[in-house]
Amino acid sequence: MKYVWASGTDKGKLRDANEDVVFPDVAGSGPGPLLAGVADGMGGHVAGEVASTVAMETATRPGDESPAERVRLANEAVLQAAAERPRLQGMGTTMTLGRFLPDGTLELGHVGDSRAYLLRGDELEQLTTDHTVVEELVGLGRITREEAAQHPRRHLLTRSLGLGEVEVDEVVTDVRPGDRVLVCSDGLTEMVPDDEIRRLLAEAPDPEAAVWTLIEAANAAGGVDNVSVVVVDVRP
Ligand code: MN
Repeated sequence: MKYVWASGTDKGKLRDANEDVVFPDVAGSGPGPLLAGVADGMGGHVAGEVASTVAMETATRPGDESPAERVRLANEAVLQAAAERPRLQGMGTTMTLGRFLPDGTLELGHVGDSRAYLLRGDELEQLTTDHTVVEELVGLGRITREEAAQHPRRHLLTRSLGLGEVEVDEVVTDVRPGDRVLVCSDGLTEMVPDDEIRRLLAEAPDPEAAVWTLIEAANAAGGVDNVSVVVVDVRP
């Protein structure tokens, strides 16, 4: 299997700073193993940036750990950084991290409301589940997905790194040539409906074009949040 990737991050139209981090931060290609993910920090002033940066640096160190284990290590690193510096207390971050193996296995570790999607043909499948209050309400049948998208408290997370012990979702699937995988922060999915994401992803000629088309779409729709996108193409 050959993987071809690109990534981009933008602070959007309204925020003063960018608390998102993407990995890898340069485009490239190779047979894997490839780590690729996003972290969306929160905490005000510099704390959000520190949380996402510490988390991603920890999670992408060389080694054999699974993405889920890497997310757990990232959580410990964020907790430790906050314990050492009182000004950073309360900082947190999401993390959605994929590992693409040479045999086409895709493993994901995931906490929060960043997302991973798989585009196969014309079908866009969300591979991760948001850890938000509204997603739980949808799961319980209390509100519809359409109501969730407009819910005033849709940003409230039920899980994030930096709060304490964390349960990390682990997803394992197979990818095949022709597939396109998207990992993104909520700055994209808040601004651009899934069907539009599907169309823009499907029409982009390569990962680099896909990344910047999606970031431009988020900003054109208002750009209220930082937006981060990683796109990985699977080739024979
Ligand atoms: Mn965000």
